[in-house]
Amino acid sequence: MAIATTNPATGEMLKSFDPMGEKQIERILADAAAAAVTLRATSFDERAAWLREAALLLEGEVVEVARLVTMEMGKPIGEAKAEVTKCAAACRYFATHAEEFLADQPADAHAVGASRAYTRFEPLGPVLAVMPWNFPLWQVMRFAAPNLMVGNPGLLKHASNVPQTALYLDELFERSGFPPGAFQALLVGSDAIENILLDPRVRAATLTGSTPAGRAVAAAAGRALKKTVLELGGSDPFVVLPSADLDAAVATAVKARCQNSGQSCIAAKRFIVHGEVYETFARAFTDRMAALVVGDPLDHATDVGPLATEQVRDDVAAQVDDAVARGATVLTGGRVPDGPGWFYPPTVVTDITRDMRMFGEEVFGPVAGLYRASSVDEALELANATEFGLGSNVWTNDPGERERFVNGLDAGQVFVNGMTTSYPALPFGGVGDSGYGRELSSLGIREFCNAKAVWIG
Ligand code: NDP
Repeated sequence: MAIATTNPATGEMLKSFDPMGEKQIERILADAAAAAVTLRATSFDERAAWLREAALLLEGEVVEVARLVTMEMGKPIGEAKAEVTKCAAACRYFATHAEEFLADQPADAHAVGASRAYTRFEPLGPVLAVMPWNFPLWQVMRFAAPNLMVGNPGLLKHASNVPQTALYLDELFERSGFPPGAFQALLVGSDAIENILLDPRVRAATLTGSTPAGRAVAAAAGRALKKTVLELGGSDPFVVLPSADLDAAVATAVKARCQNSGQSCIAAKRFIVHGEVYETFARAFTDRMAALVVGDPLDHATDVGPLATEQVRDDVAAQVDDAVARGATVLTGGRVPDGPGWFYPPTVVTDITRDMRMFGEEVFGPVAGLYRASSVDEALELANATEFGLGSNVWTNDPGERERFVNGLDAGQVFVNGMTTSYPALPFGGVGDSGYGRELSSLGIREFCNAKAVWIG
């Protein structure tokens, strides 16, 4: 894939970049290794001050940065602004809490025959971050903010369609005061990753993206015995049971499916509705999906912009076409519109059977699969009938059902009566084909630490 900015609303290529050569990559790795030493000698207070400065810069530049993101990957401009603001908040969160999360953790010294025993969390060194285009700032920031507080330099291999966002982030951390080399972008294709991972100066890797990309990076990292954290796709269930507040469930369902034009790993993708409320939900949900405004992502009135690349749009269209060919029913949408840009309309598909691609695959666009469950048992079975296990959502006001789904859903997150979202204070990650390891919270910040056991006699 060419490293280039191509406007998804028009298909016009705006700027392209040559991939970095061996010499440039070597300099970047050397700078990262040097920065690991420099960063280790800095205090929490120094690193926190730089991260707070990054938050201020982001907020001051929100209009320009949001526009850049929208030009590169097509998300509606209001959502791009919200992403910038969320990044600034995450910087402040880890600036405030990192020292407490990484404080020495005392152990029972008596039990191990020591006068004192504790765990110390130390930086591992440079971490390669292979990142996707869908939240091109946030996905990076939720790695960068905690790891810069740990003292791990970041090496960003961003998706090839968001190179200018990658360069903005590279400059942001240097402008905010971090030492040179603390955070750098590598403008390279995915074919360069294996060699970079094999380099001894790179100590670990994190990837957010598709399951095949995760497998490839984890396999290469495994050969080099380097730890990985993988945040991969999802096909999150959104279960609606009879006691739910249906108006709230419908409004959230539309937002949860179509936010970021449907290109979110934790978007609700499979809507599993109990038979008692199915007809009411299906009608209201379909009406609201059909009423969304699709158009220019720079226009504030737009709800759904283009998909980020032609390939993503083709994949979504092929998944819907496959379902239709096998007997599914389209309640709204379902056709690629004429005209330039990679638009796809908000779509609701029902009568989905297990042989259809939509049943088992992640659909990365504004397409909802709507399922009728005849019982609470069947709703839970359908919710778990996926290889993925990232987020999940259940709507019920029955305390027994709530507990049953909190315990029974095979997912990294369960949200009850609210939209699945990532919060700096909560761990984020999945099980199964959605990956492993956690980002954010006190768990995420420790993923790339050497948890050193200290025993003092
Ligand atoms: P990818 O998973 O292919 O891309 C994500 C990142 O991984 C990019 O930086 C990409 O680089 C890199 N990458 C891709 N293949 C490899 C590889 N073999 N080895 C090392 N790095 C690799 O996402 P796509 O853009 O192709 O999207 C395809 C599908 O992935 C989507 O339709 C969606 O289903 C899923 N996806 C999920 C995301 C999530 O948040 N969970 C985010 C993005 C996509 P490069 O761009 O240079 O190829």
